[in-house]
Amino acid sequence: MTNDAAPLNFIEHIIEEDLKNDYKKDQLCFRFPPEPNGYLHIGHASSICLNFGLGERYNAPVNLRFDDTNPAKEEQEFVDAIKRDISWLGYKWSEERYASDYFQQLYDWAVQMIKDGKAYVDSQTSEAIAEQKGTPNTPGKSSPFRARSVEENLDLLEKMKNGETKEGEHVLRAKINMESPNMLMRDPVMYRTLNKHHHRTGTDWKIFPMYDWTHGESDYIEQVSHSFCTLEFLPHRELYDWFLDQVVDKDKLRPKQREFARRNLSHTVVSKRKLAQLVAAGVVTGWDDPRMSTISGLRRRGYTPESIKNFAESIGVGKRENLIDISHLEFNVREDLNKKAPRIMVVLDPVKLIISNYPDEKTEWLDAENNQEDESAGNREVPFSKELLIERDDFKEEANRKFFRLTIGKEVRLKNAYIIKGESVVKDAEGNITEIHCTYDPDSKSGSGSEASLRKVKGTLHWVSASHALLVEVRLYDRLFTEASPDTIKDKDFMEFVNPDSLEIITGFAEPSVKDSKPEDKFQFQRLGYFVVDPDTTSEKLVFNRTVPLRDSWGKLSD
Ligand code: ATP
Ligand code: MG
Repeated sequence: MTNDAAPLNFIEHIIEEDLKNDYKKDQLCFRFPPEPNGYLHIGHASSICLNFGLGERYNAPVNLRFDDTNPAKEEQEFVDAIKRDISWLGYKWSEERYASDYFQQLYDWAVQMIKDGKAYVDSQTSEAIAEQKGTPNTPGKSSPFRARSVEENLDLLEKMKNGETKEGEHVLRAKINMESPNMLMRDPVMYRTLNKHHHRTGTDWKIFPMYDWTHGESDYIEQVSHSFCTLEFLPHRELYDWFLDQVVDKDKLRPKQREFARRNLSHTVVSKRKLAQLVAAGVVTGWDDPRMSTISGLRRRGYTPESIKNFAESIGVGKRENLIDISHLEFNVREDLNKKAPRIMVVLDPVKLIISNYPDEKTEWLDAENNQEDESAGNREVPFSKELLIERDDFKEEANRKFFRLTIGKEVRLKNAYIIKGESVVKDAEGNITEIHCTYDPDSKSGSGSEASLRKVKGTLHWVSASHALLVEVRLYDRLFTEASPDTIKDKDFMEFVNPDSLEIITGFAEPSVKDSKPEDKFQFQRLGYFVVDPDTTSEKLVFNRTVPLRDSWGKLSD
């Protein structure tokens, strides 16, 4: 038992039971087994947090094992991205392994299985094999090749291995039970021939092992105690155990496959295959596009490792699949950035505000707190002058009593600065407001302690000094899909539900303190949301991505 006070989840209960009956504590070992056929996504984060979390809880090793058995889809780029993402989340794997490390061992075992009469080479087409499989209610039929001699099987397998046969000509099948109620037990394929370049083994191997044949044996080779996978593998467990029966040595640890529910997130897709489609179709700029549900995309969007881990922990592990609303993920990043992100003032839709009683040439550098949630964040100075920019919708010529922003004849506070009062407007020929004129109260400076500064006014606005403002590119992201569950809609392809307005690019006017910001620096644009500096930033132009808007735009802010 561990000392951790948190209640155990069902996976931890399984482990506790196994510790009583089957394993010693120092035998516990876990693995995270991604296939390097794409970037990791938020669903994988659940599995990563589960496995590495157990490693931490039980002080047990966790291997990173690449399940690289399909050279047609796997690439080194994906291996690198997966390692980068797991490290960024803050986890350290014990050993970096590859299923391809075990190709020789798997082959040797397969040869032994042929000798034991437990495997045979089938030379039918995949269609014929599929037809003979039967249905869940009708037994399958045996292949005419099921009775092949051991010698012939060995000879053919070797030919397959050496590339002397064509793709699709033969497969190696386990000889189990064509009448099993579990369709997966009806002589599953163990090897197929693929004439493809593998990112690690090159052209050495012409035959590649199937998932079921590879996974459990890899767990066994690594002496993994618990092999956690998602629920769709529940029916595979019988086969996992059957394959282990063929090789397990009684003196060694026998791994167990156990299942937990896949996690799905609304308004996106969590499947590498589908994410790859979005990349290929150019719907997004790449796997790390800030709209993607990938870990790299979330990182570029401004998510922190903690926000992703907190999210995974808060949804926990379950036994039933469900759809988690994306707002839950957004909540977690807001919570984290609220503590960490320095505040700055940026105006996104500006209108000029002229303070008629402020001296023409004067600039004051006003003291501004970086983060009221974090005293150690310190202070900065922001320039204040006669001509400012404020948000266009922070002003109305006439407004009802619930409008706490600027109107003619009413007072509001400029954040970190003075109390002002709306006086008049200037409009262009079409009637659009081009300038707002106001007066300020010189005694009302924030933090001065004067009576005037303590005066309560209803609204507080953010602003920037027009001549000091830094023009920045701001990318406003919205949900990538218009439907909560775009890939489960009957007769429709998920690509039909891509939100055409998922990205809007505008120019923002930022206070000059952000000038030297670097990619991944995070800020709260006061009253607007959380933003992060994008790697597209150059020495000429800062580019910001909106991570999330603030939940509540108005009110709240006090001075
Ligand atoms: P994808 O369909 O995106 O390729 P996968 O399950 O095929 O997903 P793998 O690379 O094989 O991806 O997965 C590595 C591990 O992550 C597996 O143990 C898998 O069960 C787990 N995993 C993948 N997607 C999710 C998810 N949405 N929720 C929880 N765990 C997941
Ligand atoms: Mg997969």
